[in-house]
Amino acid sequence: MIMAIQTCPRCFSADDVSMQRLPDGLVRYTCADARQHDGHVYVWELSARQATGTAGTAAEGVTDELLDPLMRCIGAHEPFLEYGIVEYRLSKVRPDLYAAHIREQGHVMLEPSSVTATNSRFSLALVRLRSEGQLVSITGPATGAWSYNGQVSYWARPGAPGRKSLTWEDFCLSEGREPMWTAADRATARGEAA
Ligand SMILES: [Zn+2]
Repeated sequence: MIMAIQTCPRCFSADDVSMQRLPDGLVRYTCADARQHDGHVYVWELSARQATGTAGTAAEGVTDELLDPLMRCIGAHEPFLEYGIVEYRLSKVRPDLYAAHIREQGHVMLEPSSVTATNSRFSLALVRLRSEGQLVSITGPATGAWSYNGQVSYWARPGAPGRKSLTWEDFCLSEGREPMWTAADRATARGEAA
């Protein structure tokens, strides 16, 4: 079994990532580039099965069906979009797919100890699209419901140097919605959307 070196889901670099096998079938990755994550090393874990992907990202199979829908959530001329905007749009265009993945992986809005913005399948799919050159990302402030992350990824199509970024909070203002999780958000995540 070959363990592919993983791209850090926080800073999107593989340069300082090391791995360690844990006894319970998990593989723990540590990104030592603390400058990229508020002065802390960043640690995440995958099952050994997830870690055997060959393209440097985990869980290729389960993220396949997310690639096209996620591309539809990021317009060609848009600014860099805070991660939460992309996920929110996915929940609108493909509520079925969104809820199905959350049913399998959990969501921090339903259980605070669950997967975060940086290790969800949605993030892994975005990292795949970036590695294929279809998206570019920067790191910026995490806002509103996502602010527990401190920093989070922002996503855009390639080819617009110097473009601005749009935070989740500002997006929520323009949408006339709460920047924190709502009962409707939780219902959508549970697959109970009307
Ligand atoms: Zn990192």
